[in-house]
Amino acid sequence: MKIGENISLKKYNSFGIDVKARYFIELTSNNDIFTFLKSHFLDDKQFLILNGGSNILFTKDFNGVVIKISTQGITIIEENDNWALVKANAGENWNNFVLWCLDRGLGGLENLSLIPGNVGAAPVQNIGAYGVEQKELFQSLEAVEIKSGRIVNFSNEECRFGYRDSIFKHDTKNQYIILSVNYKLSKKPALNTSYGDIQKKLSSIPLADQTIKHVSDAVCEIRNSKLPDPAKIGNAGSFFKNPIVNLEQLMLIKSKYPDIPVYPADNDTFKLAAGWMIDKLKWKGFRYGDAGVYHSQALVLVNHGQASGSDILKLAKMIMKSVKENFGVDLEPEVNIH
Ligand SMILES: Cc1cc2nc3c(=O)[nH]c(=O)nc-3n(C[C@H](O)[C@H](O)[C@H](O)COP(=O)(O)OP(=O)(O)OC[C@H]3O[C@@H](n4cnc5c(N)ncnc54)[C@H](O)[C@@H]3O)c2cc1C
Repeated sequence: MKIGENISLKKYNSFGIDVKARYFIELTSNNDIFTFLKSHFLDDKQFLILNGGSNILFTKDFNGVVIKISTQGITIIEENDNWALVKANAGENWNNFVLWCLDRGLGGLENLSLIPGNVGAAPVQNIGAYGVEQKELFQSLEAVEIKSGRIVNFSNEECRFGYRDSIFKHDTKNQYIILSVNYKLSKKPALNTSYGDIQKKLSSIPLADQTIKHVSDAVCEIRNSKLPDPAKIGNAGSFFKNPIVNLEQLMLIKSKYPDIPVYPADNDTFKLAAGWMIDKLKWKGFRYGDAGVYHSQALVLVNHGQASGSDILKLAKMIMKSVKENFGVDLEPEVNIH
């Protein structure tokens, strides 16, 4: 366990932003995590838990301790004829975990194939894609309380999952390191092909022959055709959440933009497509220096090479202002800004 000083974070964040961490430590086992917490190195310092770094925008050097979680391991901890409870450690790559489950015929996560990042971050923002959120398969997680070193379990209910949201973004922010997550996966999965593009991709396969692997392959193809690969062009996926509005706001927006796509949300509210709004205001392909709006997906902000985190944040703020002025809606970043 070695604590580095003034370490560049460029290779640790998918935007490829070159900032430095005052201190940096990579922890590869739960024992390392416990030993590190007991050392009291964090006591008087600010810190940041970093996993795959694919949902973070650094706007300046981090004047504290970056704790990189790199714990590996996937195991089936309980199973019967119908389902298996699978435990994955926090530093496991999410897509490798999904593939591990698919290889064993365990279904449920196939619509979440190819989402970048690691397992420990999946419950933090309740990742979701193509009609599925991880909360639908999530059973529980194990975390360590940073202050006391106490191990705590969180049930699905206790995590208070919402749209790209959980308790770990609010009440318990920076209080726990998530160590592992348990997912209950089906051995007789029902496929979720409600998303139009998935249906199209599977149309040549008879319904009875369609498998979780087919769904996963379709999702990967769709993602590869729409989203920029962070290895080639820095980005953190969707930069903004889709805004939720009430009926009154919706009617006002619809009177100006009758063709805006609308999806029902909870409690008589409606979800609007932020990407559609940004596109409508002609931001797609716009560049502010090396910070840009991706040419084929307006919700994704990219680093064309040498953008700083503050360039990207400035661009995000310009877009937020423009959406507010035209649609009367406040966009909220999905990405964690530091
Ligand atoms: C091209 C691209 C496409 C994407 N598509 C999607 C998508 O379809 N759906 C979606 O939901 N997201 C998507 N994302 C966002 C991203 O993949 C997810 O948010 C992912 O879960 C982030 O994982 P990470 O390991 O990189 O987390 P990080 O960026 O390292 O961390 C994210 C947050 O979680 C906290 N955290 C991480 N690990 C722990 C831990 N062990 N304990 C406590 N806190 C922790 C961090 O402090 C930080 O606040 C996309 C990103 C990219 C680049």
